[in-house]
Amino acid sequence: MALIVHKYGGTSMGSTERIRNVAKRVAKWARAGHQMVVVPSAMSGETNRLLGLAKELASGTPNDEHNRELDMLASTGEQASSALLAIALQSEGLQAVSYAGWQVQVKTDSAFTKARIERIDDERVRADLDAGKVVVITGFQGVDDAGNITTLGRGGSDTSAVAIAAAMKANECLIYTDVDGVYTTDPRVEPDARRLATVSFEEMLEMASLGSKVLQIRSVEFAGKYKVPLRVLSSFTPWDIDINEEAKSGTLITFEEDENMEQAVVSGIAFNRDEAKISVLGVPDKPGIAYHILGAVADANIEVDVIIQNLSKDGRTDFSFTVHRNDYARAVDLLKAKVLPTLGAADIVGDTKICKVSIVGIGMRSHVGVASKMFRVLSEEGINIQMISTSEIKTSVVIDEKYMELAVRALHKAFDLDQPAA
Ligand code: ADP
Ligand code: ASP
Ligand code: MG
Repeated sequence: MALIVHKYGGTSMGSTERIRNVAKRVAKWARAGHQMVVVPSAMSGETNRLLGLAKELASGTPNDEHNRELDMLASTGEQASSALLAIALQSEGLQAVSYAGWQVQVKTDSAFTKARIERIDDERVRADLDAGKVVVITGFQGVDDAGNITTLGRGGSDTSAVAIAAAMKANECLIYTDVDGVYTTDPRVEPDARRLATVSFEEMLEMASLGSKVLQIRSVEFAGKYKVPLRVLSSFTPWDIDINEEAKSGTLITFEEDENMEQAVVSGIAFNRDEAKISVLGVPDKPGIAYHILGAVADANIEVDVIIQNLSKDGRTDFSFTVHRNDYARAVDLLKAKVLPTLGAADIVGDTKICKVSIVGIGMRSHVGVASKMFRVLSEEGINIQMISTSEIKTSVVIDEKYMELAVRALHKAFDLDQPAA
């Protein structure tokens, strides 16, 4: 008997018919003798619908009080889907109970809309499992020390599931979604993308942090920290397929590098359309400039991603960086108010129509010329590179948003990702 955590995403929970299918699948696992914890997302579209209603009524720049209410609101989506799943499980003849994050409890910090899980008290859940119940726990949400409901950021149900699996030392965490695993790139952008049978933890971490939304980055971090066996698989296979076949399907995230395996140089391509670029023009080129600009941004709790500073000319330089699009307006306002006057810069300009495209692969550690091949491919397509950022196992470029799909497809082909691994 094993303790297994299943997570079902929004599309997988998208209608009563699909919820019934999820219940049948979970019942199959429970009847095979496993203790089951299930973490559902809100039904597809529900979180967007709720946040859209808030937008209609909101005014001014978002602050903590506002964000607290957004979490009160958005968390209801998962509460509804969890109760519906428990009802469906009961209809399958199982004993089932659902809990909201605050009931479990899933304890988080108080960073509304992007809270981090700090600990999970699993006593109640264990008692239910030992009493033979299937336990359904809401994804995406938790509770802070003051008793406020918090949410974990978009896509956060992945993190709920992995954190619960880690806390309960589950034998495996299975992330059921609307694709049948992790692909070489988003199969909705490149139809020739291939499913990877395994992907290393480090590559998955890079892919998630660079924008592949198949797993929320924090879920991968949790899996790495607590060595949670993690698999991504499809919820759209018939619920009654053989359980052993199902248990081996999809993509396994692996923690050990297999020395016998020939590592592909590039194993995946990620892209991110959620960033915007800000340039501070004509900055005096002297010590302390980066600190002056980015310190002000950091003080406002705005995360910065890619950064470049141009060569100086006549003692002046241009300084550019990217932020999340949601923070773009706030960052520009802040720089105009605080940095422009004190720094003596010429102007602040921005561009929200950019995207970041990245190639990822452990093999990049031991191969040279990978980045230059990427630049060549983009130049052959006539795509201008605005910014570049590299690390040991990835190279990212910022380009005009309108070339995103072209860039992804050209790179996918150039690095032979459409070909089966040798
Ligand atoms: P869920 O609602 O189940 O959490 P998401 O929409 O959050 O599902 O994540 C699954 C989606 O991630 C897929 O439908 C796919 O479009 C997208 N995706 C992006 N990159 C990849 C990738 N490398 N492999 C598989 N899917 C990817
Ligand atoms: N329902 C939340 C969202 O749409 C969390 C999730 O689906 O993982 O972002
Ligand atoms: Mg998701």
